[in-house]
Amino acid sequence: MEFKKGGEATNLQSAGSPTAEEQRERMRELFLEGLSENDTEKLLRVPKSDLHNHSTKGCRRAWLSEQLKIKLPEPPERFEGLAGMQEWFTTFVKPFCAGKEGGLIRWEGAFAEAARNNIKRLSMNFGAQEIELFGGMSAFRRIIEGFRSKHCPDTVFEPELTYVSCCDTEVEAARIEKYISDGFFRSVDVCGGEDVKPVEAFVPLYRKAEQYGLMKRMHVGESGSAEDVRRAVEVLGLSEVHHGIHAAESDEVMRFLADNRIQLNVCPSSNVKLGYADSYKDHPIKLLYENGVKVTVNTDDLLIFDSSVENEYLLLYQAGTLTANQLNEIRESALTGEISCLR
Ligand SMILES: [Zn+2]
Repeated sequence: MEFKKGGEATNLQSAGSPTAEEQRERMRELFLEGLSENDTEKLLRVPKSDLHNHSTKGCRRAWLSEQLKIKLPEPPERFEGLAGMQEWFTTFVKPFCAGKEGGLIRWEGAFAEAARNNIKRLSMNFGAQEIELFGGMSAFRRIIEGFRSKHCPDTVFEPELTYVSCCDTEVEAARIEKYISDGFFRSVDVCGGEDVKPVEAFVPLYRKAEQYGLMKRMHVGESGSAEDVRRAVEVLGLSEVHHGIHAAESDEVMRFLADNRIQLNVCPSSNVKLGYADSYKDHPIKLLYENGVKVTVNTDDLLIFDSSVENEYLLLYQAGTLTANQLNEIRESALTGEISCLR
């Protein structure tokens, strides 16, 4: 990555190219200008990350409409929870891009978006069923690596293997090796609703993932409580949490997360549109940040929530949730956070 502290001067740099530190400062200024001037073009040019991205819903609605040559409807301001969101998606979007062909278009769109938005660190998740649909790991890898090298070859790409919470964890743990033994996946995740089964049920899955050096993440604290977040971190040894916003309801849990450097990959529009946060202004990311919890800003399901990464920063800035400098600090630290993947 380009954000090394005290970039060493090279022959090229002495001939006039900016050092890494100068480049970082330029990007900081561009980001602050983009926010204060409401200038999307400037924000798009700044390097960013997206660490919570469900690949098949990771493309822009406008991009997909263009590819399919149809006008996809705008999503509502609010959904009736996760079930309402799923119903809207399967009624208004999926019929136009279902099956293998539809999946391929949406995957490609997710990488095209990374290129458009200058996403320099991208963690995108995939389910085992999707891998099987495309013929197993080698065929799946060829497809994904093809899209990546076509659209964003310079992006640090960290694929994530995700399971739905209703899966049979014993069965999945017994066959997880065929997906993770080749080193493609960098992290493991569970999504698809909390409270389906106790976190202890996922121990076999996470234990296997740990043996292969995968970073451990889980969707928790989106609808669930602060205590749910702490429990999942402790029981499964998570180093990052997807969402985790309800941790803000407990000073003690926030201290626990801050002390243990547990990162929360937050998705503001997802939380507001699903009703898990009241508004952008009162979004828990403010409290979490102010209490020293490491947070990042991400899209979750861009195709559904219709807000790309640069827009997520803009919404938080315009609502007065965090200052431009605070948002820039979050942006920079998410970009340089690869070290957490090595834990
Ligand atoms: Zn998610």
